[in-house]
Amino acid sequence: IVNRRHSSSATAPKAAYNDSSDSVVNLNQGNPTMFETYWRKTGKKGDLLIPGCRSMSYFAEDLAGTRNQSICWFMEKEFEEEVRRIHDLVGNAVTEDRYIVVGTGSVQLYQAAIYAYALSYPLDAPDSPHPISVVCAAPYYSAYPAVTDYLKSGLYKWKGDANSFKGTNNEPYIELITSPNNPDGFIREPVVNRHGAEDGEGRAMLIHDYAYYWPQYTAITAPADNDIMLFTFSKSTGHAGSRIGWAVVKDRKMAETMTKFIELNTIGVSKDSQLRAAKILKTISDSCQQNKSDQLWNGAVAADEKLENFFYCARNLMAERWKRLRNAIKDNGFFSLPEYPKKFCNFSGQFTEAYPSFAWLKVEEEGIEDCASFLSELKILTRGGKEFGGSPLCARISMVDRQHLIDLLIERLSTFISSKRKCE
Ligand code: PMP
Repeated sequence: IVNRRHSSSATAPKAAYNDSSDSVVNLNQGNPTMFETYWRKTGKKGDLLIPGCRSMSYFAEDLAGTRNQSICWFMEKEFEEEVRRIHDLVGNAVTEDRYIVVGTGSVQLYQAAIYAYALSYPLDAPDSPHPISVVCAAPYYSAYPAVTDYLKSGLYKWKGDANSFKGTNNEPYIELITSPNNPDGFIREPVVNRHGAEDGEGRAMLIHDYAYYWPQYTAITAPADNDIMLFTFSKSTGHAGSRIGWAVVKDRKMAETMTKFIELNTIGVSKDSQLRAAKILKTISDSCQQNKSDQLWNGAVAADEKLENFFYCARNLMAERWKRLRNAIKDNGFFSLPEYPKKFCNFSGQFTEAYPSFAWLKVEEEGIEDCASFLSELKILTRGGKEFGGSPLCARISMVDRQHLIDLLIERLSTFISSKRKCE
């Protein structure tokens, strides 16, 4: 982020917009509806018909009643196969010799992971470390604190910004690493420097949240290979409403305990949603195998192709939105956006910029201390930096909502910025 607070008159922006609708542009949530356009174009290829007799059992089993032998006893075989296949094709995670656990969104898997880590220490020992501290470098995904603490568990406790976490007596802790990060889009590594500690003494227990480690948002630089990696159907394909996520887990015992958590919490995960996820993931993988050409990655539209490569298509849409947003705020330095270095993407075989799911907009104008409140005067609803343990000078704007909202956002920002230019 350009770190420059410059001064000029900070006039209230009321009525600086004049788009026809005058409606509120709500970009507070990261609702990934922008991908609807792709799924509309694919016609029936993403559709799924589930016969009345299917998915009736609590267990994952075929119609003859043969059960899936996986540790995750409620995981549909097709779903697991398609998860492994898409990671192999995209190259964003190692899945060989790893366990897959399906969850009701990755938010459930996050809870399963902190539960499993906490239970890896005996509960009845006199020096038991519970509640175990859970930390994440600020700015962090705003849901983590509440999701960690809402049950007031004796097993774990949210301790905020990992940058300021010291802990005591080499206590074990859980660190979350969201990469690319929500809200600011940067690639991240763990920040608490205790990884050399002996097992059981000050042990770092890491959860990598890879919700956005997909080619439409960032360069795929290497297959991730960490102890517990979380992925979500919501941000990869846009199907947030199906509530499907998955974890790629190295350790068998951890995978078993996470599965146990989901058994206790919801007795498994909707089979209907898993089957739908399998179908959608299959459609995407097919689209990647049918259409992998450099021209398409660079923005050209597939001409007579049957199925456009999902990631190429989604990435082009993201690139266009980011270009327009950067253009709208450029020149007078009232706002700034983070800059992301170009990196080589193994998936596309090209150097590419990052186009994060959220824009982390910073107000640079002297006298304005709260970016989200300022934007709300333009009737643009965003999430303020404080909710992420960060600065109120920043606000998070969703870049993955429907096109008309993004158009209104850009129109309002451009109108406001050009009205400022005229006054200068
Ligand atoms: N992790 C991160 C970083 C997210 O941004 C989100 C969704 N906003 C989630 C997890 C939750 O995803 P899901 O819809 O799968 O629960």
